[in-house]
Amino acid sequence: MRRVWNPCLMATSYPATTPDHAAHGLRTEPLTTAVTVLVVEDEPDIATAIAHRLAAEGWTAEVAGDGLSGVEAAARLRPDVVILDVMLPGIDGLEVCRRIQAERPVPVLMLTARDDETDILVGLGVGADDYMTKPFSMRELVARTKSLLRRVSRAGQIAEAGTTPPPAIVAGDVQIDRAQRRVSRAGETVHLTPTEFDLLVTLAVTPRTVLTREKLLADVWDWVDASGTRTVDSHIKALRRKLGADLIRTVHGVGYAFEPPVDP
Ligand code: CA
Repeated sequence: MRRVWNPCLMATSYPATTPDHAAHGLRTEPLTTAVTVLVVEDEPDIATAIAHRLAAEGWTAEVAGDGLSGVEAAARLRPDVVILDVMLPGIDGLEVCRRIQAERPVPVLMLTARDDETDILVGLGVGADDYMTKPFSMRELVARTKSLLRRVSRAGQIAEAGTTPPPAIVAGDVQIDRAQRRVSRAGETVHLTPTEFDLLVTLAVTPRTVLTREKLLADVWDWVDASGTRTVDSHIKALRRKLGADLIRTVHGVGYAFEPPVDP
């Protein structure tokens, strides 16, 4: 089905078409449930190209052309993942991300115009799970979106299995409740994005052990290409800002290590 872009519409739906996983050679681990993706992007050509590409994966894609429509569509659709442009008319992608995340945690892949913009956004604590700089290939966009969905699906399976919840990690005044996916420091709850949480747990299960950026990228992002190491650095910055800089040590040229705080 072909939909013509119409800026008057609040949002445009692209229903799933026949999946063509085999056609483009991407990893094809099946995603067992129907996937709904919200695309918030004001450039019609890009929005339409993304939506058609996602529909070809067998997913349902809906496009919102400005920030407020994006927030509204997220509340209505309850999407599995949001692909969000930063520069939007009305409220920008940063504010859209905050409002969507405040409503309900959902993985967000943010589209930026420049590499250094990614650093700035993470510094601001926007809470996106991954970042891609324009121009990007549709193939990479799909691969990263799948990676986000796999991580969420894994977390959901662990939560549903319910029999033996993973034990909480306690390190000094830091408590990481893996069953509830909650973190506190000195008794204060710290709100982390799903990616920040996964990154923290990955580091904290092997305290004082240096993990390379590539290893973290593979374990947390399920992303085999090393091109996303900037994403790792950005999320480390966000964790330090939220939990305290003392908790994660940088080993220059190597990677990062979790340093349990000393009991007061
Ligand atoms: Ca834009």
